[in-house]
Amino acid sequence: MAMSASSSSHALLRRIGGALLRRSFSASASAGSDSAAAAGYHVAGGPSYMRGAVFWEPGRPLTLEEFQMPRPKAGELLIKTKACGVCHSDLHVMKGEIPFSSPCVVGHEITGEVVDHGTHTPIEIINRLPIGSHVVGAFIMPCGNCFYCVKGQEDLCESFFAYNRAKGTLYDGETRLFLRSNGKPVYMYSMGGLAEYCVVPANALAVLPHSLPYTESAILGCAVFTAYGALRHSAEMRAGDSVAVIGVGGVGSR
Ligand SMILES: [Zn+2]
Ligand SMILES: [Zn+2]
Repeated sequence: MAMSASSSSHALLRRIGGALLRRSFSASASAGSDSAAAAGYHVAGGPSYMRGAVFWEPGRPLTLEEFQMPRPKAGELLIKTKACGVCHSDLHVMKGEIPFSSPCVVGHEITGEVVDHGTHTPIEIINRLPIGSHVVGAFIMPCGNCFYCVKGQEDLCESFFAYNRAKGTLYDGETRLFLRSNGKPVYMYSMGGLAEYCVVPANALAVLPHSLPYTESAILGCAVFTAYGALRHSAEMRAGDSVAVIGVGGVGSR
């Protein structure tokens, strides 16, 4: 399920029972007009802060907080979030069913626009994902360098599980999210997608064709490929196969 960021409302509605989390705060409140923020960020410094939805502890509602504008490091991109899905993995964290560092920003099914590259980011990455690119992010963010990544098993990336899943950070052991008021670090569940901007390692981003809408495409990064992987690799289904489907949930119905 994906909801787009709206410029008309600042309300945050949460209905866990209906598996609905509508993110509808506005980038324009902190950044001037959307177009000015997107066009001006890279060359003029852009906004100095953003807002994001923070998970504090199980059973406590998310709160909207202001953050210092996150800064990408080498090999990372700053993405202006356009849409973010709500996956049950996020809800597991929010219910305390999956232990995770807190406070943190959940949300790991994003689409967005590239607005900056970390310094010393290789030119090949900048050429592949230039400023203004439409992108979709992946739930598992491969480092590209570990034992598993180099042999094409990015879903087992050692850095992702050792740092992001175990500590809520990126691969230098640090988060990119700090509260505006007191500088307190806030951890990242994947890229921390329920925020106006997020920092994402380049290996976790794919170009989203302009023909595909931001909102509906957000689930590509987790729900769609979870179902695809189950069908293609676990069940080894091929076109033309006859199958019996027993139970269809949120992932299966994609
Ligand atoms: Zn997910
Ligand atoms: Zn890796």
